[in-house]
Amino acid sequence: MTVDQGYWAIADYVKRSLFNKLREMTTRINYLDYHEYKRSFEAIHGLLTEEWNRIQKEFRGNPDFNSKRLKGYLLEVLFYYACLKMQANFIDAEIVEMEGVKFKESPPWFEATPLYDIIAPLHHIREKGVRRRRAPQTRADFLITYVDHEGSAPPSMVEVKTRKLQNWRPEWGWQIPAALRRGFIFQIAYPRNGVEYPKNLDEWETVAPCPSCKKLSEDFRKCSECGDEIFPFTIADAHYEAMKLWRMLGKDRKGRF
Ligand SMILES: [Zn+2]
Repeated sequence: MTVDQGYWAIADYVKRSLFNKLREMTTRINYLDYHEYKRSFEAIHGLLTEEWNRIQKEFRGNPDFNSKRLKGYLLEVLFYYACLKMQANFIDAEIVEMEGVKFKESPPWFEATPLYDIIAPLHHIREKGVRRRRAPQTRADFLITYVDHEGSAPPSMVEVKTRKLQNWRPEWGWQIPAALRRGFIFQIAYPRNGVEYPKNLDEWETVAPCPSCKKLSEDFRKCSECGDEIFPFTIADAHYEAMKLWRMLGKDRKGRF
């Protein structure tokens, strides 16, 4: 494929190639043979990094191919892969449960939805020739939801980075209220120290940028750096409020969340 329309055309191609590879490989798996399924799933990680190497070769010498910047898409697809791995484990348990095995607590449900980041930017303002965006607007790479037998964790909008960022990014200033207004939390995910290509979710660090101290907090509710509140409410809180009310009325909700 020849792409000669600059950085964004290449970026689209890179992201699509990597995500298509993941889709293609998960479609091909023989899920009826458990051990083969697990082996094939494990092998996808290597195929994704291979695809990235192939792309780098394809664009060698092209001045519009910014390898450092485009590597972000590899990390995005690896984050998605790690999420799918986690999701697959829970679905496996659910299938076993459907076949009659009894668990004390129903298996959790974890889901990552990739967002394709072509957003029409409202209120892009030019200042001295530089475009700036100031108004809150949703921008994230993934929506993450988690539900277990006790209830739901706050849904999260996650932006994937290739490494831990040391400095506050001005865009977080509008990404945080934009997420909050939809009842979501906003988090940044990056590979844990020393891990170049993470395979599992525990090789990813997830933090929330704190608008008060401008540092990265381990806790999304109360900043682990300055103690200020970051996300005072989420749509998941409504569920727990409703549960409290039900209990006060002497009722109890039974069954799967
Ligand atoms: Zn703080």
